[in-house]
Amino acid sequence: MAEKSSIGPSANMQRRQLLKYAGASVAVGGLAFGPRQANAAGAKTADNPEDVLDVVIVGAGLAGLTAARDLHRAGCQSFLVLEARDRVGGRTLNYNVDGGYVSEVGGQWIGPGQTAIADLARELEVGTFPSYYEGKTVVLGGDGRVEVDLKGTFGTDEAVGAKLSKLSRDVPSGAPWASPRASELDTLSVGDWLARQNIKPEDQVGWDAGIILSGGVGPAKMGFLHFLSMINSANCDYSQLDGIKHSAQETRFIGGSQILSIKMAQQLGDKVRLSCPIRQISDWDREVVTLHTDRGEVRARAVIMAIHPALCHQVQFNPPLPERRAALQRAWPAYSPARKTAMVYRRPFWRDKGLNGHIFQYNGPILWAYDNSPPGGEIGIVNAFLANALVPSDTDAARRMQVELYARAWGDEALSPVSYHDRDWGRADSWTITCISAIPPGFWSAHGEALRRPCGNLIWSGTETADIWAGYMDGAVRSGHQGALQALNVLRRV
Ligand SMILES: Cc1cc2nc3c(=O)[nH]c(=O)nc-3n(C[C@H](O)[C@H](O)[C@H](O)COP(=O)(O)OP(=O)(O)OC[C@H]3O[C@@H](n4cnc5c(N)ncnc54)[C@H](O)[C@@H]3O)c2cc1C
Repeated sequence: MAEKSSIGPSANMQRRQLLKYAGASVAVGGLAFGPRQANAAGAKTADNPEDVLDVVIVGAGLAGLTAARDLHRAGCQSFLVLEARDRVGGRTLNYNVDGGYVSEVGGQWIGPGQTAIADLARELEVGTFPSYYEGKTVVLGGDGRVEVDLKGTFGTDEAVGAKLSKLSRDVPSGAPWASPRASELDTLSVGDWLARQNIKPEDQVGWDAGIILSGGVGPAKMGFLHFLSMINSANCDYSQLDGIKHSAQETRFIGGSQILSIKMAQQLGDKVRLSCPIRQISDWDREVVTLHTDRGEVRARAVIMAIHPALCHQVQFNPPLPERRAALQRAWPAYSPARKTAMVYRRPFWRDKGLNGHIFQYNGPILWAYDNSPPGGEIGIVNAFLANALVPSDTDAARRMQVELYARAWGDEALSPVSYHDRDWGRADSWTITCISAIPPGFWSAHGEALRRPCGNLIWSGTETADIWAGYMDGAVRSGHQGALQALNVLRRV
């Protein structure tokens, strides 16, 4: 047998946990799982290398860590979180700016209805503050420049937004393929539908930016059924999805969004193992599943896969997964155009001119630049999403290009930033190959049924599997709660 886990829980840790949780029996989603039950279910230590863990969680993003936290609170002691990278947080990552400030490199905002992540933040004592949008937005086009007051919206047409909201009522966010109109709506792209709405030319830039930001691709490639399911998540109100005020981009976390994962990992201690990629999973159809990592093998009764479906496709399954699940993983779009930058200035000088630090650009590299300064505006930070195809891949050249565009928008002070950060998530490493899900037309009709159906004792988690706010940090937290509950049910069964 191959080398056994150098990554199993230590006996000391296990004893500490036992003391800590003696008598604890926390209800998770109505299911109580106390220490005695855990033992009855076979929770053992890894003193003996032949031991089998109750649960292994793959991925230490918001989903995996939430699942781990729930298991821990439920009294389950025999679990590990295995993370490929040398850090936690997955698609949330803080860029530390001098002076103790941070800017978010990945996911950052939450908004109305995103109660799961808001609850988590409260429990972890992480505060929030409003995104900055007071003042005028600059719109660049060709050599021109205009200032507009968008009042916290992306400047899209309200009447068209209202039509989308109405249509979304028929498309359940958790199962768009089950919509009574799925076969008709899933043949269209968002672009097909918008083309019939007589969108005013001046509104088009807002639609394009909003759809790229929330869906990862432009309207022509984004499935209409999928887009409606996202609006359904947002309380069937398009304005709660795309925009800032009363919308999904309304609120930020003090200390940056990665702080949530960092705090959860601190609480979980050595239950979280970093630099431990799962390469292969065998015997997933048996009672005990074996995970092959770069640091040895681990065996578990239940496995929560808290990673993106396209990354599941990179894991080798033995025996192969059922064809419907394998097809979903193969087909899941694995391309991310998300390149996100942060330009740091001594002050948010644009605010003195009545500008909000936001830019939209017609046919240019900037999809959306926005004021991402800390809560008190002590320093000025402008984050931007860029259209990769129009930006030099060289970081210095990309910085120069942006500085010049910012100077066109806000004046020469923009020419003197103090630091810059640039991340292309699609290229930075192999553990995030796509940021948000650019679901094309036809995808849900072909593959939706396989999204959550467990395979043996493999439980599919991660934001993409959430019933509501899939693709968002809130969805990640929801999917973590759901994954933990499913794992506890597996343990009860065995
Ligand atoms: C640029 C950008 C902007 C975004 N903006 C927002 C926003 O403003 N608001 C919002 O709500 N959401 C936003 N998101 C999306 C949000 O960040 C994600 O939905 C959320 O963080 C996903 O969490 P997760 O735990 O499901 O997955 P992930 O964060 O992807 O975590 C999965 C973890 O699994 C690890 N992993 C992968 N494969 C393996 C393997 N084989 N073995 C072991 N470990 C593995 C990865 O390293 C990763 O740490 C944004 C994302 C990006 C990238």
